Amino acid sequence: MELIENLTKALGIPRWGTAPLDRCGPYLPCRGAELLNQRHRTVICFLFPYFTGEMPGRNLSRYACVPDYHRVAGGMLRQMAESLSEQLPGHEFLPFVDSSPIREVRAAVEAGLGCRGENGLLIAPDYGSYVFLGEIVTDLALPPRQPPGGHCLGCGKCRRQCPGRAIGKDGILTERCLSHITQKRGELTEEEARLLASTGIIWGCDRCQEICPMNQDVKKSPIPAFYQDRVERLELPVTRGEVRGRAFGFRGPGVLRRNLRIMEGKKADTRGEYSFREGGVRLEDSSDHEGGCGDGSAVGNLTQPEQKDG
Ligand code: SF4
Ligand code: SF4
Repeated sequence: MELIENLTKALGIPRWGTAPLDRCGPYLPCRGAELLNQRHRTVICFLFPYFTGEMPGRNLSRYACVPDYHRVAGGMLRQMAESLSEQLPGHEFLPFVDSSPIREVRAAVEAGLGCRGENGLLIAPDYGSYVFLGEIVTDLALPPRQPPGGHCLGCGKCRRQCPGRAIGKDGILTERCLSHITQKRGELTEEEARLLASTGIIWGCDRCQEICPMNQDVKKSPIPAFYQDRVERLELPVTRGEVRGRAFGFRGPGVLRRNLRIMEGKKADTRGEYSFREGGVRLEDSSDHEGGCGDGSAVGNLTQPEQKDG
């Protein structure tokens, strides 16, 4: 444990914890599930806070404004796994960022990193829900760390302020969540487009985070990489170069162009109506995307695809 503590400090990761792997399932259907087996015992969970200050002009969700967390957090965890493998030969250390079959929010709660909010997100002391999650799965049986306490206030503000009314008592209605809708390929329905246009955000949606009392006065991220090369807004035309290396890059520019056109349709029509083609707003260049196991789906995690849970 001391070794992990020293490595996290050296890499600048502010919080970590451990959880028994068998308390973090059932596994999600993902390519990463094939990497896990009976020998694996422990999930080492890591927090990567990404709040870097207010950005009043942004039209992207906060997590999408900072450099791609897959690269930032993934790079740190790969280094960590390599160091652990060198110093503890004979043991396995598998790093995951948004590609893991583990229910990440559940694992992070088990690891004592925070509580699960009514909005489905992990809420961490000091950093709120503006955190990316990452894990290293190992065959070492590490003792669990003590939970820091804390719990969702149950105030219901996130539920009442959700534009899509996607937060229910039994979980999240993914199809109504704007984090999911803004990432969808193809045409959006009229209802989906109306929801998207109502927020001013073309990728993701931070409403249930911004309204959360537990996200007020959060600390800024201690990770320097999140302050470099931030992008707060995108405008038409969106180029491939603008999306490359960003959290939304896996979809390519086409989905963002479609969303921007929906926004512009709203502005252009003083009656508040949209200029839809029959059947919805069309994504013209639907070939403009790249796939991926961690596909950024908001299932259970809303605005932060890295917070994956069921
Ligand atoms: S991100 Fe939160 S507020 Fe926005 S639509 Fe999804 S559940 Fe609702
Ligand atoms: S807004 Fe209230 S109910 Fe929702 S996650 Fe935050 S504290 Fe919990």
